Amino acid sequence: MSLEIVVVHPDLLGTYGDGGNGVVLAQRARWRGIAAELVDATSGEALPTGDLYCLGGGEDAAQTASAERLRDEGALERAVGRGAVVLAVCAGYQILGTSFAGADGRAISGVGLLDVRTVKGNGRRAVGELLAEPADGRLPQLTGFENHGGLTIRGPDVAPLAEVAAGVGNGDGTEGAVFGRVIGTYLHGPALARNPALADLLLSWATGRRLEPLDDAEEAALREERIAAVRERRLRHRVRYELGSSS
Ligand code: GLN
Repeated sequence: MSLEIVVVHPDLLGTYGDGGNGVVLAQRARWRGIAAELVDATSGEALPTGDLYCLGGGEDAAQTASAERLRDEGALERAVGRGAVVLAVCAGYQILGTSFAGADGRAISGVGLLDVRTVKGNGRRAVGELLAEPADGRLPQLTGFENHGGLTIRGPDVAPLAEVAAGVGNGDGTEGAVFGRVIGTYLHGPALARNPALADLLLSWATGRRLEPLDDAEEAALREERIAAVRERRLRHRVRYELGSSS
């Protein structure tokens, strides 16, 4: 049996390189001797049956088109009903909610797999590194970058994925959402290249197996470099602020 990993609508949700999440999942499965098939499911075709689905970020108009296609089809909801695992990033995360703001600010219906809704933020677009402390203590710090205008409000039964340490995330000090085997997040990177522990959590859900550790020295070096960059930038801001305030 092969693990079916589906990258959903890369033609619409491919702006930020989040298709890499599918590549990471397939490769980390294969490194452990688990056969995995990676399928790019463009919006013109029927969504294939899979064990793991990845949705990425995209522009407002493409996001609306993808949401409409998924809502009409209903295949993603059926897959989750069968126990499929989903990782959805940014526009993909917003699509999984009950509604999100379209290009003109009007609410567009989402797929409703997560009880979250996204509204247009009234401040600046959230752009930059995003660092978050996971609510699940088994995961290490989450690192990525964000680029979104929407702010996401969670319903009472949906847990956040993490607390924001640097950046904006959902906009209320939390980052992302988890419900069952569905995870939504604002982390680009791709998120699973920067956070291999998150990739392994998804793989363990999908396979029902405890996975042996891999040599993640390269990933650890990348994480260190990115997390240090956030710290340095904060320090630079502080120095600039202190210089600014004393002159
Ligand atoms: N269009 C959405 C927003 O700006 C999502 C952007 C993205 O996917 N990076 O909030």
